[in-house]
Amino acid sequence: MRPVPGRFYSAAAYCRARVAITDKIYVKNHRQLASQLETSFPKGAFKGATLDILFQGEGLAKLDDASRDRVLDFAEDFMDCDCQAAPHCGCPERKFISYLLELREQGLGPDAIVDVMTDDYMLYAYPGDILSFLDNSIRTLEAIETLAGVDGEREVEREASERRGHLVR
Ligand SMILES: [Zn+2]
Repeated sequence: MRPVPGRFYSAAAYCRARVAITDKIYVKNHRQLASQLETSFPKGAFKGATLDILFQGEGLAKLDDASRDRVLDFAEDFMDCDCQAAPHCGCPERKFISYLLELREQGLGPDAIVDVMTDDYMLYAYPGDILSFLDNSIRTLEAIETLAGVDGEREVEREASERRGHLVR
């Protein structure tokens, strides 16, 4: 679907890419964690029920130290907003996307990005999914750049171009 110029800056396509990738981020050692917490939750890190467990923080004391540290780091880094709807406000997903893009801007490839998210937060993804996400992000920025150029929106054009440059490397 080709977006309409002008309406595109709401970045609908960018949001779609975002939703897709956060649906593909999984909790590592999921079964082990569920058994330590004595509850069940989905494997997807950004599923509502998973976020609820992390957000409520109940029972996290039952986790082993290493796991607990990572879960708390995740909550602190991605779930620290004051939205009434938290953690279902979209902020965790948005922040995680920024985190992925920052790792890319530091020059990491898909495999290294997965390694880092596992080290940092005990999460994993398939490198192929990360690669698609990065490709989509680049294509979206390209489209924004082109449309902004056509519309004479120089500032938007320049920003999209700059961000794309950081991702391509
Ligand atoms: Zn929020």
